[in-house]
Amino acid sequence: MRIDLHTHSIASDGTLSPAELMTAAAAAGLDVIALTDHDTTGGWEPARAALPAGLTLVPGAELSCRWYGPDQTTALHLLAYLFDPDDPALCEALAAVRSDRERRAQRMVDLMRADGIDVTWEEIVRYAAGGTVGRPHLAQALIRRGMAASVSEAFAPHLLGERYRLPKHDLDVFDALRLVRDAGGVTVFAHPHATKRGRIVPDAVIAEMAAAGLFGLEADHDDHSPAERAYVRALAADLGLVVTGSSDFHGTNKTVPLGAYTTAPDVYERIVGAAKGYGPLR
Ligand code: AMP
Ligand code: ZN
Ligand code: FE
Ligand code: FE
Repeated sequence: MRIDLHTHSIASDGTLSPAELMTAAAAAGLDVIALTDHDTTGGWEPARAALPAGLTLVPGAELSCRWYGPDQTTALHLLAYLFDPDDPALCEALAAVRSDRERRAQRMVDLMRADGIDVTWEEIVRYAAGGTVGRPHLAQALIRRGMAASVSEAFAPHLLGERYRLPKHDLDVFDALRLVRDAGGVTVFAHPHATKRGRIVPDAVIAEMAAAGLFGLEADHDDHSPAERAYVRALAADLGLVVTGSSDFHGTNKTVPLGAYTTAPDVYERIVGAAKGYGPLR
């Protein structure tokens, strides 16, 4: 069994449609794929409709969260699986994050225009194609203008990494844990020790998250060094959490292929067993 529990489609900042992603997952030899677009369930139905025989879809989302620490706040991502997509409180929270992402991207466009980059909001809306707007869509505009050769280059500090980066509205991570649990879902902390991405939350907070219902930690992820993967495994064992591995596939917006990291079948079964909001689709 090959199980990849973290992927993105054009419903957020991936480059394959949900249907194309399902076909690509089967071609990559996966048995189970989770669709976890940022802050949306918009890809669930088209992915389900395109499911090839033999592939199981775990509907999910990657929630933009923040931990409000005593002297600073830290952004983090929670993977949520198999929750009720019609749960009113969760829907409202996700809609608020998506709408603030649009407001934020418009302001980032303004910042870029003030520097003489002739990008327009209409262009970004075109790249986002109805999905959750993110910095990778702004990266496309920079690439088209020859200001970056890849999405990764567009995240350099003098571009989207810092200069044109603005904060967005995120969910308080403890609110998010409660919202997903109340919607019958299961949560896994995405790339929890990816120091290369910026500040990480202290382990004591991960312990509090575990007490608040967190189910697992994503250990095998391309943004973790081998030492960080081992550290996360040990931490999960200490806290009684499961560990997952996943590609965080983004199509051509990133270089990691589908199935680059995978999750053990018994962990997958435990996640499905704990979920009450929705079942895996096949
Ligand atoms: P946002 O959620 O709008 O702040 O954009 C963050 C997203 O951009 C992440 O979820 C990644 O998919 C992507 N991203 C961040 N850093 C990089 C990078 N260095 N190269 C490619 N994509 C990146
Ligand atoms: Zn992304
Ligand atoms: Fe993430
Ligand atoms: Fe992701």
